[in-house]
Amino acid sequence: KVRALVAGNWKMNGLRAGIAEAEAVGRALNETPAGADVMICPPATLLGPMVAALGDSTVHVGGQDCHVNVSGAFTGDVSAEMLADAGATAVIVGHSERRSLHGELDRDVRAKAEAAHRAGLSAIVCVGETAGERAAALTQTVVSRQLAGSLPDGARAANTVVAYEPVWAIGTGLTPTVEDVAKVHAAIRKALVARFGAEGQGMRILYGGSVKPQNARELMAVPDVNGALVGGASLKAADFLGIIAAYQ
Ligand code: 13P
Repeated sequence: KVRALVAGNWKMNGLRAGIAEAEAVGRALNETPAGADVMICPPATLLGPMVAALGDSTVHVGGQDCHVNVSGAFTGDVSAEMLADAGATAVIVGHSERRSLHGELDRDVRAKAEAAHRAGLSAIVCVGETAGERAAALTQTVVSRQLAGSLPDGARAANTVVAYEPVWAIGTGLTPTVEDVAKVHAAIRKALVARFGAEGQGMRILYGGSVKPQNARELMAVPDVNGALVGGASLKAADFLGIIAAYQ
């Protein structure tokens, strides 16, 4: 059984004062160790301060996006190497907000995942269908196309995490039924094993989209759900710890 991962994606939220929430999570986990790996992905401005504030707590820190190059004339961008240099151990790539608001295609996401691996980071690769695609019964088609196009060859269990985030469930309070989550996660597992063999068996598949303390337990009990990618509910320590507790 793979060890679960609960990752918080703060998106473009959080000023320095917000680091107190991450510190509170770190302190709570020092007292009661989590039954899952725990990570917070803050905006890039908070990476360094958050790594410093978390000290030797067990909470990992990750980035939310990276450029494909190591360095150079790319104003406003941050490389995977820079994230690693700041103390990050992972980076989210291909989040639906990057795909829809920044026009990122599967091949871009794949190149970013390759950059993450080059820098020694884990890549948390996001996939998921829109409401329209779901209505057209295209969920499995879209997710398998995104997986095939976004995951680099040579991806390993130790450096690659897949996050299934139905776009219509993000920030809406809506979630798929546990049956629907089970179906998609089983299909993702099948595709990972077909392509990566034993490594695909060990890759973690997170569910994301309106995960809250109230629904974490039932979502995390679904086979092949190996953790959660949490947006809004990761901003407050009490909520995030409530979700992490689904693994105690
Ligand atoms: P919410 O948990 O706010 O729905 O966001 C999910 C998400 O997009 C995490 O990456």
